[in-house]
Amino acid sequence: MSHSVTLIPGDGIGPEIAAAARQVLEATGVGFEWHVVDAGEGVMATYGTPLPDHVLESIRRDRVALKGPITTPIGEGFRSVNVALRQALGLYANVRPAHSMKGLDTRYENVDLVIVRENTEDLYAGIEHMVGRDAAESIKIITREASERIARYAFEYAIANGRHKVTAVHKANIMKLSDGLFLESCRTVAAAYEGRGIEFEDRIVDNMCMQLVQKPERYDVLVLPNLYGDIISDLAAGLVGGLGVAPGANIGADAAVFEPVHGSAPKYAGLDKANPTAIILSGALMLRHLGETAAAKRVEDAVREVIAAGRTTTYDLGGTAGTAAFGEAVAANVAANVTEARAAR
Ligand code: NAD
Repeated sequence: MSHSVTLIPGDGIGPEIAAAARQVLEATGVGFEWHVVDAGEGVMATYGTPLPDHVLESIRRDRVALKGPITTPIGEGFRSVNVALRQALGLYANVRPAHSMKGLDTRYENVDLVIVRENTEDLYAGIEHMVGRDAAESIKIITREASERIARYAFEYAIANGRHKVTAVHKANIMKLSDGLFLESCRTVAAAYEGRGIEFEDRIVDNMCMQLVQKPERYDVLVLPNLYGDIISDLAAGLVGGLGVAPGANIGADAAVFEPVHGSAPKYAGLDKANPTAIILSGALMLRHLGETAAAKRVEDAVREVIAAGRTTTYDLGGTAGTAAFGEAVAANVAANVTEARAAR
């Protein structure tokens, strides 16, 4: 059976890393019908918007997309296409695993975290205005509905994936109403899951940062409002080798978009330098979502083996290989495993 998948290469380093991911995913032998569509600044002149309707329609039709990063102008210009896309498709859960890999020069060897970030509200609701000329306000929206939904997602994820603990992260000591409501919602959901084998605790976000840097092995699944989730997932990526290796999934009731945690790294665009691991591992998360578990594992194992071997790694992991060479090495490893598995049948 072949899977219909929307592919958004993105901009900056996006097209190069997306090409590597596509090559690796195709090496698994799983059939794909790719619908390639573009979004971002490059399509503004043609469609008058960075997120044309046909892009959303393609994802709605396929229900699954693999996406490269898209640049957002800082301080001016259009709103983030990435945020708009998550909001338009109701992709309420942003799931970002951070798992140690052999062969990477990191401070820890035993990190196994999953960040579950609320993806639709908080300061990302984009409600900002000037108050006179010299002050500005951003409105932080937290609702019981979205907070309980993300907490339930975290518990369901923990149960489905054999995890043991959910930690809610907040700043309810200061933002007593907004973060207070988030924490209260998590506690309500935790009470409903009592007896299901998942421990629940909460941490204030500043303390959480310190704890993660000192003893990350004590934590398992973290559930956070949007902004803290964004920040903590970069921190978690740093614990396991950096943004180049951190995958992500945006999950909604009707669609799912898989994309790396990192952005478009414009300074490396077109240089065949960027590490495609994060988007390749995002592709593995997509394969799992599509029920292609064996193929997903093959991709994850291949990435681990190529990185552990250390001969073909990109600059950020201390190597000299380019984006394409790394993609080819992983694709060759996947293809060799597929051939071996067929011969063993
Ligand atoms: P970034 O993630 O693009 O880059 C930060 C640094 O991390 C870069 O300087 C680079 O050294 C390194 N890096 C990132 N990805 C890498 C890779 N695959 N391989 C090797 N090194 C890598 O963050 P930024 O510079 O803050 O943002 C650049 C643009 O990306 C901005 O316009 C931002 O809005 C956008 N962005 C998009 C997404 C998305 O599409 N989901 C996410 C984050 C940022």
